[in-house]
Amino acid sequence: AKDRGRNTYQFYTNDMTEKAYERITLETQLREAIVNREFEVYFQPQVNINDNKIIGMEALVRWNHPQTGLVPPGKFIPLAEDTGLIVEIDRQVMQDAMKQFQKWIDLGLDVGVLSINLSMIQLNHEDFIEFVKTTIKNAKISTDNLMFEVTETQVMKNPKQAIFMLQQLKDIGIRLAIDDFGTGHSSLSYIKRLPIDKLKIDQSFVMDALVDKDDRELTRAIISIANSLNLEVIAEGVETKEQAEFLVKNGCVEAQGYFYYKPLDVLTLTKELTKS
Ligand code: C2E
Ligand code: CA
Ligand code: CA
Ligand code: CA
Repeated sequence: AKDRGRNTYQFYTNDMTEKAYERITLETQLREAIVNREFEVYFQPQVNINDNKIIGMEALVRWNHPQTGLVPPGKFIPLAEDTGLIVEIDRQVMQDAMKQFQKWIDLGLDVGVLSINLSMIQLNHEDFIEFVKTTIKNAKISTDNLMFEVTETQVMKNPKQAIFMLQQLKDIGIRLAIDDFGTGHSSLSYIKRLPIDKLKIDQSFVMDALVDKDDRELTRAIISIANSLNLEVIAEGVETKEQAEFLVKNGCVEAQGYFYYKPLDVLTLTKELTKS
């Protein structure tokens, strides 16, 4: 038993060392990626379920890793948040996304409103508002075409600070959405006080709405909260026609999901937009 104990211990330390090593490697590579601007913005169109017309697009970052290829955000955003590197990554995403979106507008394409994901770390950065203003000016984009998304969980970590920062974005004319709504335990009284325009129903509810009674009721409840607070509402993770029909029937007309479009690179999406 003593031997086994020692082996377990050894296995544990090796495992920890490897994890720590992986983290350091990833962090080093992330720093290089920032310098070399290896991040690429993909866009996922959002539609009106009734006519399938595009009403907006969400910018989603990908990392074009020189050795391993395209890395999804789930693989590097958590470490980027822990190390604060997310601030610089999100700045590059914001610059590139706004410039590209304005290009589509200049081509006369109906792209609607651009949604950009924010991290609270970035939002708390002292010169954030100045950076946003400068980026908008450089991209020559109108704030009428802009929406920022922040997750319910991040807002609820420090609601007072969040309200203060979000209000400054509202003041310069940017619309705001609460992302992953339904997963962050916010109270109705707080939602009412947030300077927001839109709720995004978390995809875990939408995906199971037709098979799980709880998810179905939660989806319905979020739509009715949005309607009664006069907020727009969009469903994420719509993968089937049946899910879309369920949403419309319950009062949600906006959707985003693989049933309509996957996140696409600029070249593919430009072809798609100019097809008709
Ligand atoms: P999110 O903001 O909730 O974005 C939606 C995610 O759901 C995206 O994953 C999208 O590709 C995926 N998705 C959309 N429709 C469907 C569907 O029908 N089925 C399924 N299975 N998935 C769908 P992605 O691109 O991997 O991004 C993951 C998360 O990473 C995002 O979740 C967001 O929290 C974060 N993220 C992405 N880009 C950025 C960024 O530029 N900055 C920051 N701070 N976070 C970002
Ligand atoms: Ca989002
Ligand atoms: Ca989401
Ligand atoms: Ca479920």
